[in-house]
Amino acid sequence: MPPMKSRKIVVVGGGGAGIVAAIAAARLGAEVTVAERMSLLGKKVLASGAGRCNLLNETLNASFYNEEAAGMVNETFRRFGKDEILSFFRELGLWTHTEEDGRIFPLTDKALTLMDLLRAEIEKLGIAVQLNCHVRSVKSSGREFVLEIENGKALRAERVILAAGGQSYPNLGSDGSGFELARAFGHAIVPPVPITVPLMTQDVWCRVLEGQRIRGRARPFLDSKAVMPWIEGDILFTNYGLSGTAILDISDPVSVGLNRAPAKKASVALDLVPFLSENDLARELERRVARGMKDAYLVAGLLPPKFAQVLREFLVPDKVRRLAAVLKNRVFFVSGTRGWDAAEFTAGGVAISEVDSRTFESRKQGGLYLCGEVVDVNGRRGGYQLAWAWASGYLAGVSAAG
Ligand SMILES: Cc1cc2nc3c(=O)[nH]c(=O)nc-3n(C[C@H](O)[C@H](O)[C@H](O)COP(=O)(O)OP(=O)(O)OC[C@H]3O[C@@H](n4cnc5c(N)ncnc54)[C@H](O)[C@@H]3O)c2cc1C
Repeated sequence: MPPMKSRKIVVVGGGGAGIVAAIAAARLGAEVTVAERMSLLGKKVLASGAGRCNLLNETLNASFYNEEAAGMVNETFRRFGKDEILSFFRELGLWTHTEEDGRIFPLTDKALTLMDLLRAEIEKLGIAVQLNCHVRSVKSSGREFVLEIENGKALRAERVILAAGGQSYPNLGSDGSGFELARAFGHAIVPPVPITVPLMTQDVWCRVLEGQRIRGRARPFLDSKAVMPWIEGDILFTNYGLSGTAILDISDPVSVGLNRAPAKKASVALDLVPFLSENDLARELERRVARGMKDAYLVAGLLPPKFAQVLREFLVPDKVRRLAAVLKNRVFFVSGTRGWDAAEFTAGGVAISEVDSRTFESRKQGGLYLCGEVVDVNGRRGGYQLAWAWASGYLAGVSAAG
């Protein structure tokens, strides 16, 4: 009997999702090529977690993702969840450690370790990698796919896995071109919006406090309505506005509200003294006044000295109640976000209803599979984005090879 002909698959995009899809498909005997537009595989993985790569989280479920994605996310993690992702990497040789908040990192705290192990597997399986290979169009003739790349060259495949990522940090590779490739097959694209992104404000406090970083709480508002609970974390004042983990964590609804029609007015409330209630803070300030503390030192030890400059009008004994109220709830009007170059994640992408949540095959085009950030699934900070990339990539690879 002649040997069974292996399936020819091209994976568009050599990021986290594409690499794992390629490995899963090649392990099942498929002949796989990864087409990657950058000169290196996994540039975003390497930059993840500031080079440490927060690859996963102890608690993985749909509540950490956009609501629309709940069904697909649950189904995906039921089949390839935390344990399966960890075993996949453990088999490659990756050791991990888990921080107190549940975030999982390589034991080395280096994304490079993880990428080295993925590259070793790619080589072992004989996966062809074409770098500097920007896929300009993908067309189906009914019998096969033809992928047009630069310089008039083409790749041919029986099946295509589209793992071209979102639109954030285009210098790391994903420039939104994956959305156009999907759109050409009739896919609806939920308008992409930069999320997990620093926010801009004209507020004079930010200019005066530029460079100051404190631990605080932040809460976003759209058209004066709170759209999230208070989130605690770092708050960094910059010359353009606000950054830090608390701001990134509340930025998603703000950016979506500002960028998607009908656009809304956005603001952020900051609690600058999260360790005291407003009453306890007022009592503490009154105690300081009673001790004869000079006005300029009223917030000393509660906030860095520079804050005295922006609080000057409240640093008088008969305004301590007002001072406490401002410190617990200072509102900043948001004029915009820092945009795609500074946004860690992308909201939006290929509409979930158009992708089969078991096989990751397109409902618009047989033989086309979609995974990772190109699909309208976005998670919170904490390893959820990469968890989605690994899991959806793996399952798409298995389906495409089948
Ligand atoms: C600075 C930063 C830090 C982050 N830190 C974390 C973290 O610690 N934990 C976490 O979970 N998530 C983190 N993320 C998010 C996470 O890295 C991404 O969500 C995830 O890598 C997406 O994987 P992906 O494979 O779908 O897309 P990508 O990693 O973007 O990969 C897509 C690939 O496709 C290629 N490509 C695009 N278009 C084409 C084309 N037309 N032809 C050929 N190739 C193409 C791109 O060059 C790219 O390599 C971070 C993101 C950033 C920007």
